[in-house]
Amino acid sequence: MALESAKFVIIGAGLAGMATAYQLALRGESGVIVLEKEQFPGMHSSGRNAAMIRQVVGDRDILKLAKRGAEFFNGRAEGWQSPPPFQRSGSLLVASGKAWQKLLADAEAARKAGVEFQQWDPAQIEKSVPCTKGGKLEGGIFCPGDGVTDTDGLINGYYQAAKARGVSLLTECEVSAVMVENGRLKGVETSRGFIRGGTVVNAGGPWASKVAGLAGALKIEFTPLRRHLYYTGPLEWASQDWPYVWDTANEVYFRPESAGLLLSPCDESPARPAIPIVDPAVEETLAAKLAVSFPALLEVPVARAWAGLRTFAPDRKFVIGWDPIVKGFYWVAGLGGHGVTTSPAVGELAAGELCSGKGKSGSPFLPSRFL
Ligand SMILES: Cc1cc2nc3c(=O)[nH]c(=O)nc-3n(C[C@H](O)[C@H](O)[C@H](O)COP(=O)(O)OP(=O)(O)OC[C@H]3O[C@@H](n4cnc5c(N)ncnc54)[C@H](O)[C@@H]3O)c2cc1C
Repeated sequence: MALESAKFVIIGAGLAGMATAYQLALRGESGVIVLEKEQFPGMHSSGRNAAMIRQVVGDRDILKLAKRGAEFFNGRAEGWQSPPPFQRSGSLLVASGKAWQKLLADAEAARKAGVEFQQWDPAQIEKSVPCTKGGKLEGGIFCPGDGVTDTDGLINGYYQAAKARGVSLLTECEVSAVMVENGRLKGVETSRGFIRGGTVVNAGGPWASKVAGLAGALKIEFTPLRRHLYYTGPLEWASQDWPYVWDTANEVYFRPESAGLLLSPCDESPARPAIPIVDPAVEETLAAKLAVSFPALLEVPVARAWAGLRTFAPDRKFVIGWDPIVKGFYWVAGLGGHGVTTSPAVGELAAGELCSGKGKSGSPFLPSRFL
């Protein structure tokens, strides 16, 4: 006998799964169940990131989702008790050389999409964020609508609004098999029993390839890439009102965090799906990058280090859409380094297609591009 049955079974309670559940609920779909193998939602990538909302990005398709995401963070979320958690402190993307030309082109594309920003010279950058002094920076793009969210609050906000509309979440519930009969989905076998359902959503993050394999769906080789984050502990001189500052030439960033700073050397090394182990050697990479971009930060202490996984499809674009092989199997995966910013828009796109049963033809995110 089935433990439960639902019209939509979502595998994974990270931002991809929870935003999709929330948007399905807003569309009046109460037959939604989210299954999470861990004790709590958001224990993997969605709870181990830098929580920055960034609209000026290189990929023009992701730019549209990022802009829509920023609108959500700057507004009131339907069905939420309070506005989404968001500190509208802005972003300051800086660069030099060829990367500065690329950043200007990305900013221009963002402007055309309706994103507001200001172009700053090195003097203005240093005046606004004094610890950028001495860095190799040619100019900056300040985007006032960007900022920082709180990912626990974000996931909980999606969940509470979805729950109030009848969506359920089962934790410590690992999906071990996806049952398909005559090409149609029947449900999922889990560590807590069988759950009947005609539509299964793959929001498995770093495990997305494995989840697809359980259903015999399209084979897409996702690569989880480990990235480290460092918290300094409280620093008297670090203003908590600064925007986050990201050198896109040298790929290193910092932002205010709990009376100190959070930093990352934007490292990328392939890792297996799991909570990644911290590699002490990456601290040297951080120091080498700070020496070039933000030498004033070279001596900051490291009070805590951790790492998370950014999971990418082979072409680094998101994978959102119906599976071309298994009827009823839907993908919301490969959100890479933009899953926090874009989660509101990703949820909208996925829920719209799930409710209509149709796909958006010509979408750049279709899984069928890997056929
Ligand atoms: C260091 C770092 C910094 C980042 N900074 C930013 C940032 O500043 N801004 C931004 O926009 N993005 C950022 N990101 C990216 C963002 O965190 C991710 O894109 C996003 O969290 C991906 O969410 P997800 O739901 O796809 O994956 P996850 O959060 O990993 O969720 C997948 C879930 O599926 C569950 N699951 C898998 N298999 C099963 C199964 N068989 N049964 C049940 N459950 C299963 C897992 O347990 C997991 O909870 C960053 C990422 C990292 C690592």
